[in-house]
Amino acid sequence: MNPYYSRTDTTELHVPDSEWKKILPDSVYAIAREKDTERAFTGKYWESTGIGTYYCAVCGNALFKSESWFASSCGWPSFFESLRPNSVTYVPDTSYGMNRTEVLCGRCGSHLGHLFDDGPPPTGKRFCMNSIVLEFEPDKK
Ligand code: FE
Repeated sequence: MNPYYSRTDTTELHVPDSEWKKILPDSVYAIAREKDTERAFTGKYWESTGIGTYYCAVCGNALFKSESWFASSCGWPSFFESLRPNSVTYVPDTSYGMNRTEVLCGRCGSHLGHLFDDGPPPTGKRFCMNSIVLEFEPDKK
């Protein structure tokens, strides 16, 4: 049971990792809170899923629309833009001797992946995300 999960409440969360540790499955916690990366081509969304919305698996925040998903050869789900400008936040990441931009959930601050400048038009951006911190919900027809 995750009392912080909501697909409608966009209030920023300030939940300590000690609390998330009790709530999240270990595999989700490792990526979301310890900034681990799932192995390429192993996640559930690197191949297209369909028409719908991708939510944060930690807090339910709406992150991406399938319209911004694109086929990428990198092995992780890739998007060229976030659903709302404040769906995600960005922080510089210089770990592993690289200069990257880390992408965090705008609501719960969980690590989602990284942002690169080699994406397709119209933005030229590639949001390189971990499937395990995303939750896909198909549109209802
Ligand atoms: Fe979140």
